[in-house]
Amino acid sequence: MRWGGLAGDGGGSAGEDESAGEDESAGEDESAGEDKSADENGANATLDPVRVAVRVGDRTLRDENRSVPANGSMTVTAAIDAASLGPGDHKIAVTVGEASATRTVTVEEARAATFAVSEIEVPKSVGYGETLTIAATVTNVGDVTGNQTVEIRYGTEATANRTVALDGGGEARLSVTFGDVRLDGGDHPVTVATANRTRERAVTLVHPSPYGKTTIRLFVDDGAVDRNVSGVVAGATSYWERNDERYLGYPVAYERVSEADRADVVLRFDSVERCGVEDGDARYFGCADLLVDEPRTPMTATVEPNISDAEMNATIIHELGHIQGLEHGEEPAGLMAPTSNLTTHRPVKIHLRAESGDVPRRVEDEVAEGLDYFAASEDIAGSDGFAWEFVDSAREAHVQITYDDRGDVCFADGGGSCTVDGEYYGQRDVRLEEMDDEVVAWHVGASFGSVLFDEVPPELTGEADRREREEWPG
Ligand SMILES: [Zn+2]
Repeated sequence: MRWGGLAGDGGGSAGEDESAGEDESAGEDESAGEDKSADENGANATLDPVRVAVRVGDRTLRDENRSVPANGSMTVTAAIDAASLGPGDHKIAVTVGEASATRTVTVEEARAATFAVSEIEVPKSVGYGETLTIAATVTNVGDVTGNQTVEIRYGTEATANRTVALDGGGEARLSVTFGDVRLDGGDHPVTVATANRTRERAVTLVHPSPYGKTTIRLFVDDGAVDRNVSGVVAGATSYWERNDERYLGYPVAYERVSEADRADVVLRFDSVERCGVEDGDARYFGCADLLVDEPRTPMTATVEPNISDAEMNATIIHELGHIQGLEHGEEPAGLMAPTSNLTTHRPVKIHLRAESGDVPRRVEDEVAEGLDYFAASEDIAGSDGFAWEFVDSAREAHVQITYDDRGDVCFADGGGSCTVDGEYYGQRDVRLEEMDDEVVAWHVGASFGSVLFDEVPPELTGEADRREREEWPG
């Protein structure tokens, strides 16, 4: 910090840039002794030395005897580091002999390091998943060298910090590239902040989803269901979250919301009597709006409340598929098939139970043998194959198999197998009634074969004799 010598009229000031102390001086007309010597002594004479003093405040910078040439001038120079004076007004006094003059100089406080953001460069728009480069120019508008952390941010979460050292008046250009930008579509703030200033711009994110964003708000109206199906719903939504890019080509994440009017999608549970084209005989598990170009608000899916959890899971996946723009027959083909059947599900969940008591071990083995025959077959109709597993309850199952060693549902007289309605809406119950254990596998094969094969092999038809039935599948 320095000051600029004698400031003209007392109001002058000097900042750091004005390193004036060395050169500026008490000039001719400020040198009080000059007129005096000229007046009193005339030309071409050298007078006796006079006392010359320069003071700033109560500090003496110079105090000495000087000879003043007659009719000449004399320069008196004194310097002081303004930092030693401190900010504020200081009185400067110059005395030459009996004469004196004073001026006031103001020492300004040096401006602290202050980092301003003078410019932000950001593209007008960026695609989902692409990279985003943000450049900014940061200027130290203070006088003092400083060191700050500059925060560069887009949206509300992604942030990069850069530490910058700048001399007073210096500037630096920073550039940060963020990879894989994952924001919803629309405008997002781009912010560059120093400890002193914040500057903001906007970038438009272009999102590939017809919903214009990743997170789809889902309202579930489950008042008509007599059990808690939150887990089933979550299972279905997470299916799409796992397979979004694969089947939809855009990201989705589902967020359950508690108000219908905030929802993008409403999932309600109710009986579905018809869906689109009328089909008098059809039993519907669900129906949904098909997304064509832009979603309406909200998109609605309806699912039968009284289906098993297994069927409900597949049905919600199917209906959400429509809501996400998939039509029947599109991949995933099994789940987007227009009807639910034994080839829709992988694995098919099977609940084996006994009409009374436990299922005999031998019967369970026979049922498994029959099902394994299909799992090993490459001729399953309209499907990549068949897979199955046992589950512990009808609620978890697509299909129920009931072993009844007496039997009176299928046949009033004698044993055999038939298929009837299961505990849940649309669920099939394959009944094995009053039969020898040896032919259980064959009856399972005959029941499933008529659904899983386009053409049922002769050994699984009524043509098969007793010995063939006992030995099947071999
Ligand atoms: Zn459908």
